[in-house]
Amino acid sequence: MGDRWHVEVDRSLCIGSAQCLHHAPDGFRLDSARQSHPVDPDTDANERVLEAAESCPVEAITITLGDNGEPVFPPEE
Ligand code: SF4
Repeated sequence: MGDRWHVEVDRSLCIGSAQCLHHAPDGFRLDSARQSHPVDPDTDANERVLEAAESCPVEAITITLGDNGEPVFPPEE
């Protein structure tokens, strides 16, 4: 069975650049204030969502493992 991920967007950081939507159009949406939201904060592990997090210019997207909260992105130092 694959991992489950918990995805969050820190809206104090998000600048609405929409790279995350480019990489994962099904994973994120922008609200009317151009703030990104995960479509499904609790999702199966998904390469596109990881690419979206990696692409964010302000690292507003964090991914943790659903079962134990360990970091997926950004990775632990
Ligand atoms: S890539 Fe980052 S800054 Fe741009 S909309 Fe997505 S979360 Fe916001």
